[in-house]
Amino acid sequence: MPTNTDDIALPGRTAPLAMDADTFRALGHEMVDQVAELLATLPDRPVTRGETPSEVRAALNAERDLPETGEDAGAVLGRATTLLKEHSLYNGHPRFFGYITSPPAPIGILGDLLAAAINPNVGAWVLSPMAAEMELQSIRWLSQLVGFPDDGGGILVSGGNVANMLGFWTARVAKGGLEVRTAGMAGIGGGRLRAYGSAETHTWIQKAADLAGLGTESVRWIPTDEDLRMDVGKLRAAIEADLAAGDRPFMVVGTAGSVSTGAVDPLPEIAKLCREFDLWFHVDGAYGAFAAALPDAPSDLKALAGADSVAMDPHKWLYAPLEAGAVLVRDADRLRDAFSYHPAYYHFGQSAINFFDRGIQNSRGFRALKVWLQLQHAGREGYVRMIGDDCRLSRELHRHVADTHELEPHHQSLSISTFRFVPDDLEERAGEEAVGEYLNALNRAIQARLEREGEAFVSNAVVRGRYLLRACIVNFHTDTDDVEALPEIVVRTGRKVDAEMRTEGLGEG
Ligand SMILES: *Cc1c(COP(=O)(O)O)cnc(C)c1O
Repeated sequence: MPTNTDDIALPGRTAPLAMDADTFRALGHEMVDQVAELLATLPDRPVTRGETPSEVRAALNAERDLPETGEDAGAVLGRATTLLKEHSLYNGHPRFFGYITSPPAPIGILGDLLAAAINPNVGAWVLSPMAAEMELQSIRWLSQLVGFPDDGGGILVSGGNVANMLGFWTARVAKGGLEVRTAGMAGIGGGRLRAYGSAETHTWIQKAADLAGLGTESVRWIPTDEDLRMDVGKLRAAIEADLAAGDRPFMVVGTAGSVSTGAVDPLPEIAKLCREFDLWFHVDGAYGAFAAALPDAPSDLKALAGADSVAMDPHKWLYAPLEAGAVLVRDADRLRDAFSYHPAYYHFGQSAINFFDRGIQNSRGFRALKVWLQLQHAGREGYVRMIGDDCRLSRELHRHVADTHELEPHHQSLSISTFRFVPDDLEERAGEEAVGEYLNALNRAIQARLEREGEAFVSNAVVRGRYLLRACIVNFHTDTDDVEALPEIVVRTGRKVDAEMRTEGLGEG
């Protein structure tokens, strides 16, 4: 019982964050108008302003202290919109070719708004009945899209890193034994657990091995062939050598679309080896898994269907707004074995799925809604068309590069193309060490200049010591005029930067 009148809540409470329906409607309409205008005018804006951190901090007034009193919502929203519009990099721009980042599908943008409004906690089914079922349906649909068995388990996470880590940690328990969860790595005895991936495997594997207590030295980096695909003969040799030394191989990671060149490991042979040695077969398809939806997908890629777990990134080739990653697991029980802390009988016959049993999060947002909406808005046919178009445009870009005198084409796989600028007079001498170093410095400088000028954005790959420009297309806004323009933009920039570097004497040596 309250003893002090200060403790008695008064009726008619006013809360600074509360907003009446009319105000919300007016601000919301204004916001939607701004977003619609932004999406419509994106191609006319620079991809990025290429500003320095201090310029961005100055625009933000970064040193400002926490405001003591509140401010009108419209004013704060207006300021946020202006700051973000004027100082952002737009990965949805048709000439953004960097990294692996897609434009946000408009229906996904709206989905995130609706998801925030309902605000279900998709950790527990009882807190998110419809949302949890929509996530389960999305996982089934993602499986069907890429040809993975649709009666397994899965969970949406923040992105490819976490999706892959869940696959790794699931494998650790599935093959290392349940007692690893209680006794820890030191307590399970036997030889050291060993994971295998190609030298092109993304850095998530180091974080996963580190955080699982295996240590990064437990990872065997298997050399690649000339197409940067895992050499399966060397994989077998490594597994056999580790077994002979008393270690315990437990998983192999096959990469389905490497970050640098889009290389797809020979998944069918890796799957066979995993069966032979009773190893967990995980596929990192963060980027490339979605291309398995194409009817003419390479058989190496379609073989992800035989994996124990597959990681994929809806915020890449499903064109979902950040963040959305997913891991699919053939046997849903293995996910629960790795992450649930309820005794087994708790699950028996239970029909409701609690996602806190399948991953590392407890409270979880409703990432699934944008995925669920997009998969229906486009349908399988729509995704096949968009992903196929991205791949066709990448091949077209590569042909333009090959036809452009001062550009040297390197790799093309899925929707990634790599190439570099080689000035006319250096073409014959590219093999000389000093010239090779100059070309690396030159292409690095071209990439930086492109970023600063904002006309087009590419990232890079370093392959066998060569610094390459890299264009990746996971963007349904990109069209033929964009892939025609890129080689011309790179050559124009390349000539300019080359001339400057030679004037400064950097070309000597
Ligand atoms: C992008 C990517 C990752 C990391 O995914 P995030 O969503 O950035 O966490 C891992 N592996 C591959 C092959 C990727 O392309």
